[in-house]
Amino acid sequence: MKKIFILGSTGSIGVNTLNVLRNFSDKFAVSALTVNSNSDLLLKQINEFNPKFVVVKEEEPANKIKEHLPSGCRLLTGNDGLITAAIEAEYDIFVGALVGFAGLAPTVEAIKRGKRIALANKETLVVAGEVVNKYCAESGAQIIPVDSEHSAIFQCMVGEGINEVEKLILTASGGPFLNKDKSSFENATVDEALNHPNWEMGNKISIDSATMMNKGLEVIEAHWLFGLPTDKIEVVVHPQSIIHSMVQFIDGSIKAQMGLPDMKLPIQYALTYPERFENDFERTNLPDIGTLEFFEPNLNKFECLKLAFDALEIGGNAPCVINAANEIAVERFLNREIKFSRIPALIGSALEKIENNKSSDIDTIFDCDRETRKFVKNLN
Ligand code: NDP
Ligand code: MG
Repeated sequence: MKKIFILGSTGSIGVNTLNVLRNFSDKFAVSALTVNSNSDLLLKQINEFNPKFVVVKEEEPANKIKEHLPSGCRLLTGNDGLITAAIEAEYDIFVGALVGFAGLAPTVEAIKRGKRIALANKETLVVAGEVVNKYCAESGAQIIPVDSEHSAIFQCMVGEGINEVEKLILTASGGPFLNKDKSSFENATVDEALNHPNWEMGNKISIDSATMMNKGLEVIEAHWLFGLPTDKIEVVVHPQSIIHSMVQFIDGSIKAQMGLPDMKLPIQYALTYPERFENDFERTNLPDIGTLEFFEPNLNKFECLKLAFDALEIGGNAPCVINAANEIAVERFLNREIKFSRIPALIGSALEKIENNKSSDIDTIFDCDRETRKFVKNLN
């Protein structure tokens, strides 16, 4: 029986992870669940899955459920609570399903304990890929990607050597604005930007998909996961989201991994790898899909994608800067403080103004994140 820790159990990935686990209650048990504030849903999850540790980051919603916990379930709060749970709970697999930079600190603790990390929280690798890889090498922790593109590449790489890879081809749906003119970004509403054509996801990643920053973050994530330079990582727009990504080898052969756009599959694979477990998820019927299309991405229209490639080329803390700037810009757009078209402008200013520190130690990363957030909060 494998014990599972879910960091961010009430989000889109967290809930889908529990949907997967529900099918395999003889193989997996839940040992810890954490949330930011949604203690109502957490309580339902506690009653069904019986974890030993739960964390509600915010005090008030934590107090609401205190009285209702089953005996033997320990409740912690705050960012310290997330870290304590990652250090003290018993688990074999840590599912990183928290959104944003806030996922980094608890994930690092799980890595230091040498656990398997089923990683959805791409921001952890974007901001701290180098140091995260160092901690993995020291502890023996293994990151299995949950992000569908990286899971696809990981699956294509089974039985292959990285030296035989010519390039990785990350597919991108293009998001809700693929067929809109750049001029329409000026008045794009929050609802339009959240309306992803193929995937149901949390708000932050949905906006990232609309700006294509999501694909930019994924290029950086792929760099740290597979150890390939920028010029061996290509993005191709594929609006149907059936091919989740591909690997082209040195003999010209291309392997692709396909399936319906449903995160349960990459989540399950990250939990069961190297095995595959039979399930009853909906199957892909290719004649129903009919056509698969591929286009080059428009970097002039989707400036965030270009900024992410630039940041990876610059190196040092540049990816941390664009990530922090993006988190604040997206939050401000969701709060209707700035227009959609301002998101890349704010990120571009941060990349230009925040001094690039080449040191990759974890304290420098936290300082850089803090400084960038402050800078972008004050930009018009
Ligand atoms: P959601 O916003 O749906 O969920 C986030 C989860 O983290 C919730 O449980 C939330 O709790 C918790 N949380 C958020 N902020 C904090 C915080 N500061 N401290 C503690 N807990 C917090 O996100 P998604 O599930 O969409 O995404 C999670 C990660 O997975 C992201 O990094 C995303 O990029 C990645 N990913 C997501 C995909 C998807 O299909 N959704 C696909 C590929 C990658 P609460 O409910 O209480 O707010
Ligand atoms: Mg993805």
